[in-house]
Amino acid sequence: MTEELFRDDATRVTCDARITAVDDGAIQLDRTVFYPHGGGQAGDGGVLVLGDGSEVAVADTRKGPAPGQILHLLAQPSDARRLAVGASVRARIDTARRQAHMRFHTATHLLCALVPHPVDGCSITAGYARLDFHTAEPLDKDLLTQGLARLVSQAHPVRVRWIADAQLDAQPELVRSMSVQPPRGSGRVRLVDIEGVDLQPCGGTHVTNTAEIGAVVVTKIEKKSAMTRRVVLGFLPSAASAS
Ligand SMILES: [Zn+2]
Repeated sequence: MTEELFRDDATRVTCDARITAVDDGAIQLDRTVFYPHGGGQAGDGGVLVLGDGSEVAVADTRKGPAPGQILHLLAQPSDARRLAVGASVRARIDTARRQAHMRFHTATHLLCALVPHPVDGCSITAGYARLDFHTAEPLDKDLLTQGLARLVSQAHPVRVRWIADAQLDAQPELVRSMSVQPPRGSGRVRLVDIEGVDLQPCGGTHVTNTAEIGAVVVTKIEKKSAMTRRVVLGFLPSAASAS
C-alpha cells in the first residue's frame, strides 16, 4: 500500500519516499504526492530525484492491479535500471499540469451546482475538462460561463472532510444536498464541500478556494446522445499564462 499524501494535502508538490517495487518502468513508492488517473481526473507527471541529484522523468501515474497500488510510469522505461528497491528518492510532481487538473476539477464541481441534472461521465486533463449530463434539455453556453465566473469571483472555500457511513446515515439532509450518491462499504466517505455551493463525495484533487480557478469558460456544448449533453471547459489564454 502506498501512502496517498495527495488525499489530505493536494497543494503538496514533493515528498521523500522509498522505492518498494521496480517493474517494467512502473515504479512503486512507500508514499507519494503523485495522483493516479481516476475519478475522471488525469494522472500526474513529474520526476523522481535520485540520491546523486539526477532526475528520472515520470510520464503518467496509474493505479496498479492490486488495491492501493500506485504506479509511477517512467517516460523512458530503460531508466528503471537506475532505480533499486529500497533506495530513497524525492518525488516531485509537474506543478503546472497538476494546477490545471485542480482548477478544472474544481470547476466541474461548480458546473454540478449550475446544472440540475445527474452526471454520467467526466474527463479532466490539463488542456480541457468535460462533463456529461444526463438530460434531454438544452444547456446555454454563455449562461454557464457567466455562472462559473460568478462562483469563481465569490471566492468560496473548498474543504475536504471524511465522514463515517454511520454519520452520513444520521444526517439524511446531507445526502439530499449531494448531486452524487456516496460510495458505501469502506466505512468512511471523502466529501468535497464548496461551502453553500456544492457538496459531493470525491477522491480527486481540488484548489482550496474557487478564486484559484481563474478564468474558465464553456468552450462547447455537444449533444452526445438523446439523453446526454456534454459541457467542455477551457481556460482563457490570459489565465493560463498567469497561473
Ligand atoms: Zn472532485
